[in-house]
Amino acid sequence: MRPPLSKELWYGDDVEMAKSLNFHQWNGTARSLFYEPEPFYTPVEELNTTKNGGISLARGWKVKSINVSEKKVKLNDGKEISYNKCLIATGSNPKTLKLYDDAREEIKDKFSVFRSIKDFEDLWEEMNNVKSIAIIGGGFLGSELAASLANKGKKNGVKIYQIFKEKGNMGKVLPNYLSQWTTEKVKNEGVEVITETEVQNCTLENNGKQVNLILNTGKNIVVDHVIMAVGAVPNTELATDAGLEIDSKLDGYLVNSELQARTDLYIAGDCACFYDSQFGRRRIEHHDHAVFSGRLAGENMAGAAKPYHHQPMFWSDIGPLVGYEAVGIIDSSLNTVGVFAKGNPKDTTPLANETHQNIPTSNEDLEVQLKSNGEALTENGYNKGVVFYLKNDVVVGIVLWNLFNRMSIARQVLKSDRCYRDLNEVAKLFNIHSD
Ligand code: NAD
Ligand code: NAD
Repeated sequence: MRPPLSKELWYGDDVEMAKSLNFHQWNGTARSLFYEPEPFYTPVEELNTTKNGGISLARGWKVKSINVSEKKVKLNDGKEISYNKCLIATGSNPKTLKLYDDAREEIKDKFSVFRSIKDFEDLWEEMNNVKSIAIIGGGFLGSELAASLANKGKKNGVKIYQIFKEKGNMGKVLPNYLSQWTTEKVKNEGVEVITETEVQNCTLENNGKQVNLILNTGKNIVVDHVIMAVGAVPNTELATDAGLEIDSKLDGYLVNSELQARTDLYIAGDCACFYDSQFGRRRIEHHDHAVFSGRLAGENMAGAAKPYHHQPMFWSDIGPLVGYEAVGIIDSSLNTVGVFAKGNPKDTTPLANETHQNIPTSNEDLEVQLKSNGEALTENGYNKGVVFYLKNDVVVGIVLWNLFNRMSIARQVLKSDRCYRDLNEVAKLFNIHSD
C-alpha cells in the first residue's frame, strides 16, 4: 500500500513513527504498509535456482526500454532480462506549472511537488524551517495536504495558503454546494483558501528568502515555500521505443478489457487506459483501481482471460472531520442528486470512529433532506449523505459522504444501470439513519 502521505501520516506526534512510515488510522488502529514482510521475497540472485520459484524485488534499477517482439527489457545499466509475460505498472508523475518550468534555478528551489516518500520526508523537514507555505491545486492532493499541513502548522506556527481555479475544494468532483461546504471545513482547519484564482508569475523576495506569487486577481502572496499539486501525468516513457499506443484523449497505454496491450504484455494502475464494459474507456488514478487492475492483470497473465468487471472505489479525507468514498463516474459537471441526513450536526468527528475498511458506526437520530445541483448551503450542513451522479437519468456514480461500509450497495445500484423515478427511495437502501 502507498503510505497515506497527504493524510494520516501528518496527524501523529511521534516523529520516529512518521519517519518509519508507520501510522495510525483515524480510528486509532496501527496500520502496516507492507503487502508482505521482507523475508517473503526471494533474493534476486537465487530466483532462477529456487525449487518452487518465488518473487524477487529487483530494486535500484530502471527499465530503459522494452523489446516487445523479442520479449526483453533493457535496464539502465545495460543488463537485459527476458520475460514470458510482462506487466507495466509505472504509475504517474506529478505535473508541474509552466511558470515553474520556465523559472531560474533559485526560484525552482522554492517549489516542490509531492508524491513520493522522499517528498514527504523533505516536506516534514521543511515544516520545521518555514513560516508559510502555498499549495497550488484544489484536487485530492492539494485539499488533503492543505488540511493536514494546517493541522500540523498550528503547532509549528506555519501558515498554509491554498490557491486554485475552482470555486471550492475538489470542485471537479463534488457538486458545488458540497465543494463549498468542504472549503469551509478546510478554512476551519486554518487554511487560507483562495478560490477561482490562478498564479500568473513569481519572483524572489527578501534577498531570495521568499517567493512572491503574482495572482491573476491582481493580488499577490509572499511565502517561504510553494507546493504544486496540479495533477499527475501517466508515466508512458517506455511506449515510443516499444511501439505501444497511447490514448489520445485520456493519456495512458491503451489496453483492452483484459488489460492487454500486446500478446504477453499487460498494463495496470494509473498508466493503463482500459475498456470498462459499463462506462467505456477510462483511466483511473486511485488505490483500489491500482490494486484490482494489478490483480486482474496477474490473473490474466496466468491464463484467466477475465475482463475488467469491478467498479473501483476511491476515498478522500480532509483531516479527521470529512471523509468520503466514491464509485463510478464522479464528475461535478454531471447532474447530481444528494440525500443528506438533516438535523443535529454537532461537532461530530465521523472518521474518529471510522476507517475505509468496513468498521460499523454509532447511532444518531437523523432525518433526510434532498439536494439537487446548485442549491445553497443550509444551516444544517452536510454531515452525512449520498450523492448520485446522473447521465441521461441513469446513476453512473455515487459519493458516500461521511458514510461508510456501504460500498457494496453503491456498486449494486450502479450495476442495475437504470433510471430511478425516486432517488430518495434508492437512498433508503443506504440506511443513512442507522449510523
Ligand atoms: P505509482 O506511481 O504508485 O507506482 C509506480 C511505480 O513504478 C514506482 O515504484 C516507480 O518507481 C516505478 N517505475 C516507473 N517507471 C519505471 C521504470 N522505467 N523502471 C522501473 N520502475 C519504474 O503508481 P500505481 O501503482 O499505478 O498507482 C498507485 C495509485 O494509488 C495511484 O493512483 C495513487 O495516486 C494512489 N494513491 C494511493 C494512496 C494510498 O494507498 N494510501 C495514496 C495516494 C494515492
Ligand atoms: P487532481 O487532478 O485531483 O487535481 C488537480 C488540481 O490542479 C485541480 O485543482 C486543477 O484545477 C489544478 N490544476 C491543473 N492544472 C493546473 C494549472 N496549469 N494551473 C493551476 N492549477 C492547475 O490532482 P492532484 O490533487 O494533484 O493529485 C495528484 C494525483 O494523486 C492524482 O492522480 C490523484 O488522484 C492522486 N491522489 C489521490 C488521492 C486519493 O485517492 N484520495 C489522494 C492524493 C492524491
